[in-house]
Amino acid sequence: RKSVVRITTGSQALDELLGGGIETLCITEAFGEFRSGKTQLAHTLCVSTQLPIHMHGGNGKVAYIDTEGTFRPERIVPIAERFGMDANAVLDNIIYARAYTYEHQYNLLLGLAAKMAEEPFKLLIVDSVIALFRVDFSGRGELAERQQKLAQMLSRLTKIAEEFNVAVYITNQVIADPGGGMFITDPKKPAGGHVLAHAATIRLMLRKGKGEQRVCKIFDAPNLPEGEAVFQVTSGGIMD
Ligand code: ATP
Ligand code: MG
Repeated sequence: RKSVVRITTGSQALDELLGGGIETLCITEAFGEFRSGKTQLAHTLCVSTQLPIHMHGGNGKVAYIDTEGTFRPERIVPIAERFGMDANAVLDNIIYARAYTYEHQYNLLLGLAAKMAEEPFKLLIVDSVIALFRVDFSGRGELAERQQKLAQMLSRLTKIAEEFNVAVYITNQVIADPGGGMFITDPKKPAGGHVLAHAATIRLMLRKGKGEQRVCKIFDAPNLPEGEAVFQVTSGGIMD
């Protein structure tokens, strides 16, 4: 039986909300408006995952699948320094791949699984998990096929999380929800429908606060109490 490892987000408030950090063996999803901090949290996790266990890290390597071209290796440098780590060594332990189609994204996962069988990984990031699906299946009448392929991809991610005891961190977009009636109470909702809702164990909703402040709310998580945490996006990554 594999035991859960919890990886620090860089913010104590956010870690406390999550019951200690981002967990291995399951999928954590972050969704929210643009600039809400989803990608910055991914960059911070790239570093914190490599910290030793006693420093709330995962003592492992990181795989990063980037579908939007927003990974910035130069952002890793100040984040590594903030945690007192050697930036070059940290960068060497991030396996990065840019995906251009949903099929490419899926095939990258197959290749990664082989790598994870050989080396100790503790985190897999897919930023964003859904963007390519929304491009590749943009036509009318393609939704059912898109959801089927998305389900396949997510089931692969769950399998990786469980087989290799890694944390899977995925980001998702918000879409406008026209709502059913005159009164729109919740105009934005995560994309991916119930397929994504079912696959992600922990769903986090991020939003902008004042200035550099961001707010994270537990949207859905079986074992966590509802609540919010406020954190900051800084040059050194996510912080209190
Ligand atoms: P999108 O939906 O567009 O992908 P996102 O949720 O991924 O958005 P991020 O890219 O994580 O958003 O956040 C961008 C924000 O992070 C910027 O608006 C800025 O406030 C902050 N940020 C980025 N780099 C730095 C930095 N070096 N120092 C301080 N803050 C930064
Ligand atoms: Mg982003």
